[in-house]
Amino acid sequence: MITDQQKRFWSPEVRELEPYIPGEQPKIQNLLKLNTNENPYPPSPRVVAAVQTVLDHQADVLRLYPDPDASALKQAIAKQQHVDVTCVFVGNGSDEVLAHIFKAFFIQDQPILTPDISYSFYPVYSQFFDIQTQKIALNERFEIDVTEYAIPNGGVIIANPNAPTSIALSLSHIEQLLQMNPNSVVVIDEAYVDFGADSAVALVEKYDNLVVCQTTSKSRSLAGLRVGYAIAQPHLIAALEAVKNSFNSYPIDRFAIAAAVASFEDQDYFIEHCQKVIDCREKLVVGLNKLGFEVLPSKANFIFATHPQHDAGELASLLREQGIIVRYFNKPRINQYLRITVGTAEQNQRLVDTLELMFK
Ligand code: PMP
Repeated sequence: MITDQQKRFWSPEVRELEPYIPGEQPKIQNLLKLNTNENPYPPSPRVVAAVQTVLDHQADVLRLYPDPDASALKQAIAKQQHVDVTCVFVGNGSDEVLAHIFKAFFIQDQPILTPDISYSFYPVYSQFFDIQTQKIALNERFEIDVTEYAIPNGGVIIANPNAPTSIALSLSHIEQLLQMNPNSVVVIDEAYVDFGADSAVALVEKYDNLVVCQTTSKSRSLAGLRVGYAIAQPHLIAALEAVKNSFNSYPIDRFAIAAAVASFEDQDYFIEHCQKVIDCREKLVVGLNKLGFEVLPSKANFIFATHPQHDAGELASLLREQGIIVRYFNKPRINQYLRITVGTAEQNQRLVDTLELMFK
């Protein structure tokens, strides 16, 4: 415990910070970890081969800094996303990309708009950069109503699919949001888009105020690598580069560049494994429905579920005793829900079987 006396050395604003709390990564044997939306499948074998190549043949270059621009990676992303390379920005995980987005665009006179229930890092960045935030309530079905975002603002940020609700917005609603806000930057955080939602990257060419943020952490099974990226028109990318080069010029190391490039080059593996997760999700939902759970319509690699007869917090603790961890948020509106990451068919079956035994 650090005392106030010791904290006198801290910058005053750091004393007030309420940092983001990441999902735990416990080291328990036979643990089934369904709490941080990681992919249950390994990355493409080409990723492993690429890292091995760096180790075997280029270890001597580790004494040299990596490419500050990560151009090879930007090229690979641009090719896969069908955009020009000048429309790509890369960072150390999309969390870092989001931090730069907040700094680059959201420090304005008006508050930014974001849903009341969304990714819990957004309010942390707002506090960090001293950005006023106006939360817009999701409707009673936990959906985003874009018409509520037609008020003066200094920017808009939405996760699509939203987290932790897993519900996706249609592209036409996103387009409506962009048209309603021609003078502020609209950020669509697509961390989970590859599991069935429509990407707004298709709109980047048309809208000069759109930033789409994606990650290799979920659909490419590379959470441990820390590679995220943004896609936007070059005038917005330039602001992100200015922020990045005022903070850390080498956010992506040589291993990460090589590995992520290999992942983007293996499109077949990517498509196949996203589909596997989607299929597992649909089966998991059927299993949970049979046990009486209500599950929100998910387009992500996780589901958000509630049970009318069982307290969600208690269920989370009971599951934990059985070596299964899921995410529980003790927050208004969602404290009767569990966020459960989709695992492999076997892992999901273990979850369903364990719950079934608990309900007997
Ligand atoms: N956006 C959302 C909505 C997320 O849930 C996450 C994962 N916690 C991220 C961004 C950040 O992912 P990463 O930093 O691993 O790219």
